[in-house]
Amino acid sequence: MKSLVFHGHRDVRVDDVPDPQIQQPGDAVLRVERTAICGSDLHAYHAAGPAASPFALGHEFLGTVEDVGSDVQRVRKGDRVLVACTVGCGHCSLCRDDLYSGCQTTTTMGPLSNILGTPLLPGGQAEGARIPFADTNCLPIPDGLDDEQVLFLTDILPTGYMGADLAEVGPGDVCVVFGCGPVGTFAQIAAQLRGAACVVAVDLDDGRLEKARARGCRPLNPTREDLDGVVRELTDGRGADCAIEAVGKVELALRAIDVARPGGRVSIVGIIVSNELPIPILTGVLGKNLTLRAGTVNPQFYYPELIRLIQQGRIRPEEIITHRLPLADAPRGYEIFDAHKDSNEEDVLKVVLQP
Ligand SMILES: [Zn+2]
Ligand SMILES: [Zn+2]
Repeated sequence: MKSLVFHGHRDVRVDDVPDPQIQQPGDAVLRVERTAICGSDLHAYHAAGPAASPFALGHEFLGTVEDVGSDVQRVRKGDRVLVACTVGCGHCSLCRDDLYSGCQTTTTMGPLSNILGTPLLPGGQAEGARIPFADTNCLPIPDGLDDEQVLFLTDILPTGYMGADLAEVGPGDVCVVFGCGPVGTFAQIAAQLRGAACVVAVDLDDGRLEKARARGCRPLNPTREDLDGVVRELTDGRGADCAIEAVGKVELALRAIDVARPGGRVSIVGIIVSNELPIPILTGVLGKNLTLRAGTVNPQFYYPELIRLIQQGRIRPEEIITHRLPLADAPRGYEIFDAHKDSNEEDVLKVVLQP
């Protein structure tokens, strides 16, 4: 089958690879029908040097089940399913507490080692994929919803939604969201659904800021406006009730802590590829009675709530799609998504691939 394979720095290719096979009794094999390029795929794309061994990328995908192992009970051949990007076993105590991202069975190689599209778990920017523990990680697509309406339940929609959940956004809050990319967009929408009085959307990309304005956010480009001044004005000098980091940058996580008021709540849901975050613990957190939370997503946990919001038309995730390309054009998809612009200078917010 065809699969997008990461070979090294800015080097992704559509290669012929072996078809996925059932390897464990809990596996399912999926024919992939839609997949998307994620901001966190760009972390690999930007990696220095060549890949130690090339691997299939992609953790946002859905399709039709083609085969299941002997232990699989809830998923059957022919089912339309979307795949949770963080693979849980479904049986350990953390999975039973809905913390699939911390699954004791699938993270033995370390935190984040259970995300699809890595050397350990080949990804789904491909014609097919093997899904371990299919009963836990394949989530049914209800009749009446099309592929593009549910594709982002695999990762970015629940990630953004979790940002607002962890930051406990509530009615009347002033909430600052760092980032107007796909995750930031869903964090903004979630903050609005939870009743925020004002969502300040921060980004450097004016095209993305314009989209945030159209959704009812207060757009802010920090190279042209003073974020602290604007937040002080909106809050009678108190500071933001909540702040969400949805990009994955150390400096933005620190800005989020900084802009939050005493007693405020900060969440970090952008994937920061660093272990160093010099938090001003005394003046920035302890001295402000700040709540600081962070996490990788558990799509399985948010799925029931988000499916209902999509069915009711209160979230329309497909609206963020700006580009649809065949899988064969995936390398160009990476290029334009990375640049935020296509060859016609149109804004690129989300690229969906069709195998
Ligand atoms: Zn993703
Ligand atoms: Zn588990």
